Amino acid sequence: MAPFIEVKVPDIGDFKDVAVIEIMVKPGDVVRSEQSLITVESDKASMEIPASAAGVVKEMKVRLGDKVSEGSTILLLEASDNSAATTPAAAAAPTTTAAAPGARAATGAAGASLAADVECDVLVLGGGPGGYSAAFRAADLGLKAVIVERYATLGGVCLNVGCIPSKALLHVATVMDEFEHLAAAGIDCAAPPRVDIARLRAHKEKIVNRLTSGLDSMAKMRKVRVVRGVGRFVDAHHVRIEPTQGAGQAPSGGAQTTIGFKNAIIAVGSQAVRLPFLPQDARIVDSTGALALTRVPQKMLIVGGGIIGLEMGTVYSALGARLDVVEMLDGLMPGADRDLVKVWQKRNAPRFDHIMLKTRTVAAKATAAGVQVTFEGEGAPPPQTYDLVLQAVGRAPNGQKIGADKAGVEVTARGFIPVDAQMRTSAPHIFAIGDVVGQPMLAHKAVHEGHVAAEVIAGELTGDARLARAAFDARAIPSVAYTDPEVAWAGLTEEQARAQGIQVRKGLFPWSASGRAIANGRDEGFTKLLFDDSAEAHGQGRILGGGIVGTHAGDMIGEIALAIEMGADAVDIGNTIHPHPTLGESLGMAAEAAHGACTDLPPQKR
Ligand SMILES: Cc1cc2nc3c(=O)[nH]c(=O)nc-3n(C[C@H](O)[C@H](O)[C@H](O)COP(=O)(O)OP(=O)(O)OC[C@H]3O[C@@H](n4cnc5c(N)ncnc54)[C@H](O)[C@@H]3O)c2cc1C
Repeated sequence: MAPFIEVKVPDIGDFKDVAVIEIMVKPGDVVRSEQSLITVESDKASMEIPASAAGVVKEMKVRLGDKVSEGSTILLLEASDNSAATTPAAAAAPTTTAAAPGARAATGAAGASLAADVECDVLVLGGGPGGYSAAFRAADLGLKAVIVERYATLGGVCLNVGCIPSKALLHVATVMDEFEHLAAAGIDCAAPPRVDIARLRAHKEKIVNRLTSGLDSMAKMRKVRVVRGVGRFVDAHHVRIEPTQGAGQAPSGGAQTTIGFKNAIIAVGSQAVRLPFLPQDARIVDSTGALALTRVPQKMLIVGGGIIGLEMGTVYSALGARLDVVEMLDGLMPGADRDLVKVWQKRNAPRFDHIMLKTRTVAAKATAAGVQVTFEGEGAPPPQTYDLVLQAVGRAPNGQKIGADKAGVEVTARGFIPVDAQMRTSAPHIFAIGDVVGQPMLAHKAVHEGHVAAEVIAGELTGDARLARAAFDARAIPSVAYTDPEVAWAGLTEEQARAQGIQVRKGLFPWSASGRAIANGRDEGFTKLLFDDSAEAHGQGRILGGGIVGTHAGDMIGEIALAIEMGADAVDIGNTIHPHPTLGESLGMAAEAAHGACTDLPPQKR
């Protein structure tokens, strides 16, 4: 049998009781002599400790955060035959690097002077899509995870007052609109639909409840504890919870709880920005107020022409409201290429009385007849009176409200928390994810970031080097406006390519040539793909981005994101067999158009 060696910390100069900040191997790993095993860090330097012999790691004797000195055992190694088996501490010299500012500190329940009611490996502050995904992933990786959430249900903005309720209502709106268009196919639905707003609201709430109660069950299945209340850091390893009750975040008056943690993930999200000059009035709402669906206005103003405002406008318009929209910039749906938006705008023009671009809302007065709003700018009409004003001018991160400074976590003046690619904040054992770390504020970004943070923590706590290396390195985060038609894009846009001087080759497939789009009576859209056309690409450049406008665009954009992640070129995508007749075929055909092989379009010039 091969001999066992205790691999020990060699002579590391004057350093004693230095923290283990990284474990690069785990039981079962085959290591070479001199291969780095762990990194230790003093206040002056960090050092990688190499293996004194080759072999297979049998047992780790240190955990992250442990303090070690010369002679401390790092691990038990089953030496390979040609190893110097008799040199237990035969020390290859450690590699030393000066400690960078903000270099990692020890992970572990330090600062334990404060008595905690609950101790955990990972505390997740905020139970939105980022937070619950992080906690569930951490639990699946064997960690004890606790979620602190101020509201009664998990799911955050997305499930309760964002993605899901808005899509429930948008689905209804789309079906209502399609119903109207059936007349062209000989189905006469002459009677106007009767809207029962209370039942529509109940329908939306049922969908939300189904999903949020599903999350409760999944937390229980994973033994993730959910503590209700508003959490704030009291030091680098403790959060204090002020319990809340009811549907909102009213204090319950109950006893505060202190939770001690080895690692924390901040996932406190964002909230709607409120324009300071708008009066307090029930007829002026943010997206949450609009989703509450208390009544259908006759005349509605959307302040802010971004995705959230236009989605809510679509719903209210289907229910019978006339719309105005005011936007400071020179176009609606900022971020999307103008050719995509143009198609949406043409089809949606009948919903709007005024589309005011390069225009600002400057004052508002609540009157008996409605909210009278004054505008300034290129498209400003005289003051207008509205039954409902939706403020949709953006969302502000919640980073300033959690006592982050007590934990040594840096927060910007605007409330964002800066993180590195591993989602680590300026306090190395505390991570942050989702809306609170920056744009784009999207649920799917939050979920992926949550997984990364949980994996890094699990890797460091269990010594799994592969997990500990996890990083958020997505090449593309898709954006979707779930309007009708939908507008979706991923990766580089044409506008960005132009601004950055990137040479692209465009493959465009108009849906007027798609059998399925024509069969659906919805052939106004198109699919476009952008490929690298730089000299270095030699005419075979990889896909850099793409956009789709049309029904179900949001369901198809994932294929473009996948192609970007995989580094596909136009031939790869064109040769991928898409089922016929589908809207998804348009992706293959756009790729074929890019390399001149599309037979569903008129012959292309060579
Ligand atoms: C109307 C609307 C529609 C949207 N539609 C889409 C869409 O279709 N697709 C999409 O990807 N994104 C959409 N979004 C954006 C999406 O909802 C967010 O990007 C996403 O919810 C962010 O997730 P998060 O986990 O970072 O934060 P959040 O979902 O904001 O969750 C944060 C949670 O932390 C809790 N919290 C905050 N502070 C504390 C504290 N101190 N103590 C305890 N708990 C605290 C909050 O109560 C909340 O539950 C939409 C947003 C809105 C408003």
